[in-house]
Amino acid sequence: MEPIKYISTRGNGGSVDASYAIVHGIAEDGGLFVPTSFPVMDLPMEELLKLNYKELAYEVMKLFLTDFSKDDLKYCIEHAYDSKFDDDAVAPVVYPGGTPVLELFHGATLAFKDMALSMLPYLLTCAARKQDIQEEIVILTATSGDTGKAALEGFADVPGVRIIVFYPKDGVSAIQKLQMVTQRGDNTHVVGMDGNFDDAQRSVKEIFTNPKEAEKMKNNGYIFSSANSINIGRLIPQVVYYYWAYLQMVRDGKIAMGDKLSFSVPTGNFGDILAAYYAKRIGLPVDRLICASNKNNVLTDFFTTGHYNSKREFYVTSSPSMDILVSSNLERYLYHIGDEDGKQVQLMMQALRLYGTFDFQQDKERLSQDISNGYANEEQTAETIRKVYQETGYTMDPHTAVAEYVAEEYKKAHPDCTPICIVSTASPYKFPNVILQSIAPDQFDVEMSEADKIELLSKVSETEIPERLKFVLSARIRHTMTCDKDKALATVHSILGL
Ligand SMILES: *Cc1c(COP(=O)(O)O)cnc(C)c1O
Repeated sequence: MEPIKYISTRGNGGSVDASYAIVHGIAEDGGLFVPTSFPVMDLPMEELLKLNYKELAYEVMKLFLTDFSKDDLKYCIEHAYDSKFDDDAVAPVVYPGGTPVLELFHGATLAFKDMALSMLPYLLTCAARKQDIQEEIVILTATSGDTGKAALEGFADVPGVRIIVFYPKDGVSAIQKLQMVTQRGDNTHVVGMDGNFDDAQRSVKEIFTNPKEAEKMKNNGYIFSSANSINIGRLIPQVVYYYWAYLQMVRDGKIAMGDKLSFSVPTGNFGDILAAYYAKRIGLPVDRLICASNKNNVLTDFFTTGHYNSKREFYVTSSPSMDILVSSNLERYLYHIGDEDGKQVQLMMQALRLYGTFDFQQDKERLSQDISNGYANEEQTAETIRKVYQETGYTMDPHTAVAEYVAEEYKKAHPDCTPICIVSTASPYKFPNVILQSIAPDQFDVEMSEADKIELLSKVSETEIPERLKFVLSARIRHTMTCDKDKALATVHSILGL
């Protein structure tokens, strides 16, 4: 098998191994690592049908991580998808009212980020060994709510690694915040930032790409890496569950082998939907990728017009993990559909940094070759949660409801379309407020304690409260640090004692 190499989306620097890309997180020119060519799935679908989740993960991931040995990769997979997941299928597909829903929230922190972040610490430790890294690795992470907790959980007490998470102080749900500030592990640091997710993400990216900082870190025995989806080690494990969903639907008799399937993906940083595109590129029969946004609909406008404009009002919505105006993985997609022209990508990203806007330079038709798009505002999201609950008894979190709404709109416009699988990214228990307001307004009161809200959600949804959540509600608060949005670097220095 040809080894797969990785290169910066901005075209500078040479090609590197996967393990290099994973350890460093981002390319030196500020670009993101992408594979120089796409591998091809070498097992027939009939063979894949027989595999369990871990076996399938191996078959998909080995195609991209060609510098990892079989034993290494199997070790990583075995430890990532163990009893941390509360469902044997890891990512089950369910069919409320006949609609396929891929549930990606059965891991330790109840959001889809666990699918990749329970794996990344193993990949990173293994990659650091291959790259002969002696320094202590400092994982810097910006979070819109779910990445932070999933990364903290994954990296807690991992030897040779420290993790610092910045979250927008007033931009995450109460449960998301509780999950983070109660995090155990002496190597974990959690900082509430006065600003929104874009501020946090920009600060972290600036620290990463500052050569003086890298030098200073090295002199003090540290090296930075990233747990955000700019790290290719986040994306590769996510390709697996698109295969899994397809195969599960074949096993369940919902589609025939070889049929095309579309996915509706609630999108923020464009990582999840990009993994679906990668699945398509390596051979999965995917039809449309439906990019579903919330009221922060910068991507809807971009895919409709070819003009990206981040200079607009920022809304805090009921689906906070999608409250993003600068969607970082879009850069990878632009590279792939734009003739892999790094110079063009560099110009677009420069315009985005300087002016907050850019225009797609190539033929606009390419923007719709794989992607369809749409968005749901706050009322439409709440109404979708209520409607699905009333019609089927199924409780959806607000992110999933955005994807469901946009998929329904798509079906209305395309009555003969291929089946659409809804990608469900969070457990409803992470967002009790908006859900209870929609499905049990008479019994709900915002002033109730979080514990009471969760009890009520369990009662009306007739589902069990996840064990992990019970723990978070009673755990001690261990992290109280905050910082201004322009003080991220100083905060990192103070944490590391520099
Ligand atoms: C992160 C997240 C998203 C958005 O995923 P991207 O890969 O950033 O597009 C959607 N829903 C939930 C619950 C998330 O945590």
